Amino acid sequence: MSESFDVVVIGAGPAGYPAAIRAGQNKLKVACVDEWKNADGAYAFGGTCLNAGCIPSKALLESSELYQRAKQEFAIHGIKIGDVKLDLAAMQKRRASIVKSMTGGIAALFKANGVTGIQGHGRLLPGNKVLVTGADGAERTLQAKHVVLASGSAPIRLDAMPHDGKFIVDSWNALEFDAVPARLGVIGAGVIGLELGSVWRRLGSEVTVLEAMPELLPMADQAIAKEAQRHFKKQGLELKLGAKVACAAVVGGAVEVIYSDAQGEHKLEVDKLVVAVGRRPYTQNLLAEGTAVVLDQRGFIQVDEHCRTAAADVWAVGDVVRGPMLAHKGKEEGLMAADLIAGRYGEVNYKTIPSVIYTQPEIAWVGQTEEQVKASGRAYKTGVFPFAASGRARAMEAAHGMAKIVSAADDDEILGVHVIGPMAGELIGEAVLAMEYSASTEDIQRTIHAHPTLSEAIHEAALAVDKKAIDAVNR
Ligand code: FAD
Ligand code: AMP
Repeated sequence: MSESFDVVVIGAGPAGYPAAIRAGQNKLKVACVDEWKNADGAYAFGGTCLNAGCIPSKALLESSELYQRAKQEFAIHGIKIGDVKLDLAAMQKRRASIVKSMTGGIAALFKANGVTGIQGHGRLLPGNKVLVTGADGAERTLQAKHVVLASGSAPIRLDAMPHDGKFIVDSWNALEFDAVPARLGVIGAGVIGLELGSVWRRLGSEVTVLEAMPELLPMADQAIAKEAQRHFKKQGLELKLGAKVACAAVVGGAVEVIYSDAQGEHKLEVDKLVVAVGRRPYTQNLLAEGTAVVLDQRGFIQVDEHCRTAAADVWAVGDVVRGPMLAHKGKEEGLMAADLIAGRYGEVNYKTIPSVIYTQPEIAWVGQTEEQVKASGRAYKTGVFPFAASGRARAMEAAHGMAKIVSAADDDEILGVHVIGPMAGELIGEAVLAMEYSASTEDIQRTIHAHPTLSEAIHEAALAVDKKAIDAVNR
């Protein structure tokens, strides 16, 4: 006999677990199946984000930044602390305990919202049945009115750089190093490569990042990307752009990396190599024959704008479908699917998904870059405010970077907001809300921002759009 549910969610990452919780809030009978196991062999909810992505990376970024600030900045504040020493084991213990408490928190949230959390592998069968295989191989079948596929993504592995988990590693391995590598190579200057490169650089590694593209962060506003490049260079992060890695191999306890750039072929030797060349949708053993779910050419599950797959009452959300691979994008899709299933209203505004890179300075944006607006042919105006003119940023010893707003010349619509500077990821929230409400630049100009705060940079950038900035020279 199979157990019956209104909704069965496969995957308890940041797309799947919110879908399950919202389904529970909508008074639906819901189960969420997840197979993630950590190094200790124990199952854990939370997916990539909580176990091997957003949360552990931010824990290490915070710790490594404090370490570096203690070494370089405290003296400027007039604080003498003597010799600063790194205790990597303690730092990693903290990272692991944050992960453990956050993933344990999901089990508690499931209980509070009436979600049946099931640990094991889920496979969609025709007729909206889900076959669950537990760790011991025991099978059970769940009958569902609706199924939400939220199986996420996995790091791309390249045969020419064979992953061994020790020398040639992925982002998860690189979050769990138990010693600081003297020489670290990173392939790919995407968000993950830059964040991991920053962590280990701050902790003492000599870091070389190899990026095939000729420009850094092509998806970001180029004024912001150029500012970022300047800071990364100052921090000693060796960024080689236009450097395409052909292959890598472990030779005598080190990794030899062969890459080519405009000057020809080169060899780089490092102690560890992080392959951060992107992620792919993960659908291994997810779909049985005859489910009618369709994958696209790149392996993503095909969905419409409401995350409906080609199979009736089967939905797919998060990294396994098109769009940016971001936790908050998946969460909104999960909530939308669970609300639509319950007959409620649900929508995702794909135009206002913020991006954040947690480097130093932090980088965040929402909407279109100046380059994109220019290419669209729409007349526009820009306003820039440098954090050097922010009293709060100066007090924080973090007066680097800028806030930039791109607005339409005709109706003053905010088209894009771009920040590089302290707490950029927090500051971007105001811009997301403004764009969600279709605010004009004048709306931000007329909104009171507390003084002295970092948020004044957004206010001043909005004023600068119309050459009305007060605390900086209008250009
Ligand atoms: P996942 O988090 O991958 O979860 C999918 C879950 O489904 C997993 O637990 C998996 O085991 C399970 N599963 C898969 N198939 C099955 C099956 N058949 N049966 C049962 N269970 C199954 N994003 C941000 O927004 N901000 C960040 O700061 C950020 N930092 C990152 C840092 C790193 C190092 C990495 C790697 C990623 C980062 N991301 C960040 C991306 C973010 O982690 C992903 O976008 C997010 O986790 C995707 O959520 P998801 O629920 O779609 O998939
Ligand atoms: P992202 O997709 O944002 O995670 O970033 C991955 C980055 O890796 C992209 O900027 C790619 O250009 C880069 N990349 C992919 N393959 C290679 C390669 N063989 N050598 C160098 N960079 C690469």
